[in-house]
Amino acid sequence: MELTGDKAKAWLLNFEAKIQEHKAYLSDLDQAIGDGDHGSNMARGTEAVKVNLEKIAEPETAEVLKQAAMALISKVGGASGPLYGSAFMQMAKTAKETTDIHELIEAGLEGIKHRGKADVGDKTMVDTWAPVVEALAKDALTNEAITQAVDATKPLKAKKGRASYVGERSIGALDPGAVSSGYLFTALVEEVLQ
Ligand code: ADP
Ligand code: MG
Ligand code: MG
Repeated sequence: MELTGDKAKAWLLNFEAKIQEHKAYLSDLDQAIGDGDHGSNMARGTEAVKVNLEKIAEPETAEVLKQAAMALISKVGGASGPLYGSAFMQMAKTAKETTDIHELIEAGLEGIKHRGKADVGDKTMVDTWAPVVEALAKDALTNEAITQAVDATKPLKAKKGRASYVGERSIGALDPGAVSSGYLFTALVEEVLQ
């Protein structure tokens, strides 16, 4: 499946709407194992993405992804800003070669791993992105698969980021960045894959 410029724009506008809708919930999740700002960080960042994208009349995939990256890097603050920013910057670079969705999201995952040095099982957004990349490789990404990946962060002990400071206490809580990434991919399913 190809990510056209129009679909990329629709995807990210849908993501913004989901983040605004669940802003308080994301901050509550972060309050439990971090500093309680993930919802407001992402709401501010995706609002800036929306402002940038609404200026683009004829969306082109690489440009949409790059505008998203720049907005997220400059406006999110916190660990998640540069991580989501790296993901979208790598996707923008890759989009100059291919607009295949699996390859784009895989490049995004590599961007996150390169920037944050987290791997699968560390209880971060990587635990959503990695299974999503695997599902996309099989053309089998569904909302159920996304929910399963997000929920699987609950029993994990955080090894990266602020949540790692609370150690054992992070066990039993969802990872906020894994949840916000879940909204990103639910939006992808809705706008692009269905
Ligand atoms: P901060 O922790 O600086 O307040 P946020 O609350 O916005 O930033 O984001 C926290 C989220 O960032 C975590 O829930 C986790 O998913 C993600 N995260 C933190 N560190 C890393 C990392 N090294 N690699 C991948 N994701 C990370
Ligand atoms: Mg936080
Ligand atoms: Mg913070």
